[in-house]
Amino acid sequence: MPELPDVEGFRRVVADHVVGSKVASVRVLDAGVVHTSPEEFTRALQGRVISEPSRYGKWLRVPTRNRSGYPQLLAHFGMTGAFVWTPGEQADHRHDRVVFEFRDGALRYRDMRKLTGLRLATERSEVEELLGDLGPDAAGVSRRDLRARLTRTARRIKPALMDQTVVAGLGNLCVDEILWRSRLAPTLSTTDLEAAHWARLHARLGSVLRSSSRVGHVPDRPSWLTGHRDEHDARCPRCSTPLSRSKIAGRSTVWCPRCQPS
Ligand SMILES: [Zn+2]
Repeated sequence: MPELPDVEGFRRVVADHVVGSKVASVRVLDAGVVHTSPEEFTRALQGRVISEPSRYGKWLRVPTRNRSGYPQLLAHFGMTGAFVWTPGEQADHRHDRVVFEFRDGALRYRDMRKLTGLRLATERSEVEELLGDLGPDAAGVSRRDLRARLTRTARRIKPALMDQTVVAGLGNLCVDEILWRSRLAPTLSTTDLEAAHWARLHARLGSVLRSSSRVGHVPDRPSWLTGHRDEHDARCPRCSTPLSRSKIAGRSTVWCPRCQPS
């Protein structure tokens, strides 16, 4: 499921393949995805030159090259979405929802589910409407800000970290990995954490996001919790204790009861 590191990977797909290139045509294969009429969506982007993309939380902003930077494409990847580049001429994949054709290939918005993942913004106010409620981007949040925002109300640390209005970009895998590395149980209350916990949480949050963003997903390496969470008889890669598993705030949560005592 796309989280900050995945969207960072999609940002690189756009940056590596289409920045500076003109959109030759837009094919909306699934009108439900674009949140406006396919005609308007196509008209706004066709013939435009793509400018440097940027990520905010789980959103990707793709401006067009002119003085205002608008119209702008805003992409969200929901549960199963991706941007995929295919060189030359290739047949559409059955989950391609919108295809942006360029001279030398196509950028494909591919999503198994049909969510309204693509938005067109023609001015700044429309971007603010979409992104205005989000907290600071998780990759740049300061320790002080993280603590202040997470402790506004006493709540369990896992759902608090996943709340995009508190801090933007973290999803289920990132949060479980960060908490395991911070040795904090997902059920702890944010108001029970002490200064040393906050320092560790902020440092691990940064290192997990940096390592994951480099490869475009939370890696399932043997030394990572993510490398074991889906195993039968899963054990902690640090202490070999059988991992605990339960639903917290509706999401499948994995942690080590020994390393992360509650
Ligand atoms: Zn352990």
